[in-house]
Amino acid sequence: MPSYTPPIRDMQFVMHEVLKVADEYKAMPPHAEVDVDTINAILEEGGKFASEVTFPLNQVGDREGCTLDAKTHEVKTPTGFKEAYAKYVEGGWPALSADPEFGGQGLPIVVNQAFYEMLNSANQAWTMYPGLTHGAYEALHAHGTPEQKKTYLPRLTSGEWTGTMCLTEPHCGTDLGLLRTKAEPQADGTYKLTGNKIFISAGEHDFVSNIVHLVLARLPDAPSGSKGISLFVVPKFQVNADGSLGQRNGIWCGGLEHKMGIHGNATAQIVLDGAVGTLVGEPHKGLQAMFVMMNAARIGVGMQSLGLTEVAYQNALAYAKDRIQMRSLSGPKAKDKPADPIIVHPDVRKMLLTAKAYAEGGRALSMFCSLLIDRELSHPDEKVRKDSAEMVALLTPIVKAFLTDNGHIATNACMQVFGGHGFIGEWGMEQFVRDNRINMIYEGTNTVQSLDLLGRKVLGNQGATLKKFGKLVAQLVEEEGVNEKMAEFINPIAMLGDQMTKFTTELGFKAFQNPDEVGAAAVDYLRVLGHLVFGYFWARMAQVALREIEAGNADPFYKAKLQTARFYFARLFPETATLMRTARAGARSLLDTQEALA
Ligand SMILES: Cc1cc2nc3c(=O)[nH]c(=O)nc-3n(C[C@H](O)[C@H](O)[C@H](O)COP(=O)(O)OP(=O)(O)OC[C@H]3O[C@@H](n4cnc5c(N)ncnc54)[C@H](O)[C@@H]3O)c2cc1C
Repeated sequence: MPSYTPPIRDMQFVMHEVLKVADEYKAMPPHAEVDVDTINAILEEGGKFASEVTFPLNQVGDREGCTLDAKTHEVKTPTGFKEAYAKYVEGGWPALSADPEFGGQGLPIVVNQAFYEMLNSANQAWTMYPGLTHGAYEALHAHGTPEQKKTYLPRLTSGEWTGTMCLTEPHCGTDLGLLRTKAEPQADGTYKLTGNKIFISAGEHDFVSNIVHLVLARLPDAPSGSKGISLFVVPKFQVNADGSLGQRNGIWCGGLEHKMGIHGNATAQIVLDGAVGTLVGEPHKGLQAMFVMMNAARIGVGMQSLGLTEVAYQNALAYAKDRIQMRSLSGPKAKDKPADPIIVHPDVRKMLLTAKAYAEGGRALSMFCSLLIDRELSHPDEKVRKDSAEMVALLTPIVKAFLTDNGHIATNACMQVFGGHGFIGEWGMEQFVRDNRINMIYEGTNTVQSLDLLGRKVLGNQGATLKKFGKLVAQLVEEEGVNEKMAEFINPIAMLGDQMTKFTTELGFKAFQNPDEVGAAAVDYLRVLGHLVFGYFWARMAQVALREIEAGNADPFYKAKLQTARFYFARLFPETATLMRTARAGARSLLDTQEALA
């Protein structure tokens, strides 16, 4: 049986010692009262909910999965899932960072994201039900009409209803321009939607009385391609003028997918058969409106892998201390035992430290991103809001793809620590690997994220936002460049920061001559930039840890932080050299291969 302890201390380190979020909030009127104690109290309670309520259901959900009643089209979730959701609602958790105007508690995104990291460690499949609800809330909050907001936001905020996002169709996943679901305008101002959606997470379940589907579809006069897509809100049950539930709408679950992981989450085929919906935002501008939900969801997916990296690490560490096999190469370490614990072996330590470095680096980056979103939403200075939004846009594909790829590496490494036992279900390690695998695929595959990063976010604005991130790196280098103790953390990012400008310009020049060069370099490019970003945060964390140690603080936490930073720069960061080389290899070795791929 796996176990999970919420990493509250590390969260507090990043929030209070590295990012100093409470000081930042003093400048943001909606959060001016949010202090360190408030944040810590929520982390403690949130951690209890995750570890005590949803974590015990993780293996149950994996074993049982969801079941569809073909006659009623209703879905039954695994044992305990529904009751856990009722506790979640009772505790007021869905409202944490929602707008007080609609019943929310108005707390910062940083706090909500930290809570979600813990929920994802505990049970990713369960967490997707409230996670998608939050995304639907955000899309309607940004683009809904006053009537739609009044009807749906209070119920999504309280958790009384849940939400979904319905984009994918059998013939269209990445290329949403191909989608065919139709929306016919009706005399009363509503629309009737007809079509088939697949792979809809949390698409049908037994948690709540109504499910609010956000559906992409085409109007009759829609131009072809992605410029002809509109967004609609389509509830499972229509809603009467007084807010009570009306007729069952023509939107059904036609089947459930059998899949590799996240078995506890219902991945539904959704049939729209003249379902009544209302338009969200402007006609043909549905993709822009949906992007609110998709961007939030992309960061959310990064958080899913961060959660799995953390829980996999914790279990692998405990196992490595307990399992005895072979002797240390440098002589017995546990002389009282017939063999040494496997944690003495250098490669086992490497696997553990890889997961730890990716978890802690991912936590720092995702919290920084959440703080940027708080600034974007709540800072009084318009320039701060604009700069923060730009930086979030740059970092979002990195959070999505780098954290999920790292999650893949980390959960596999942690499973490997268990040897053959990792492959056996009862230990829970193979579930972490399986559950993580989808994170690299949905919300835009990681390849698509890398194209978005290099093509749109970097080359698309001539590297302007990247330069702004470069300035953060340069500031830290200037601050610590003469500090010998920081050299091992500062020199690598200073060097990569310099190389990045030339590397990006070179790729931009090649892409100008042949656009396929972007596709050939993008995945490697994202990983290089991901390491520059991680390197920056690892250097900042090392800086705080060193200062504490020098001030006489004997808490082993700081030594551990420095040791992990050292490992990161010695063992993980250097892959940037190889990645830059492969990115520079160009498109020819991929495209001049007609015979090889015949
Ligand atoms: C469990 C699960 C849950 C999901 N939940 C939802 C949900 O809630 N709502 C929803 O709408 N969808 C959902 N999806 C769908 C998911 O977002 C899509 O599967 C994903 O976007 C990829 O689309 P696709 O599967 O059609 O693959 P395709 O688009 O067919 O892609 C196949 C391969 O081609 C690559 N590729 C495609 N275009 C390019 C390009 N231009 N350049 C380089 N490579 C390219 C892709 O990266 C991928 O490797 C879910 C899927 C699964 C499996």
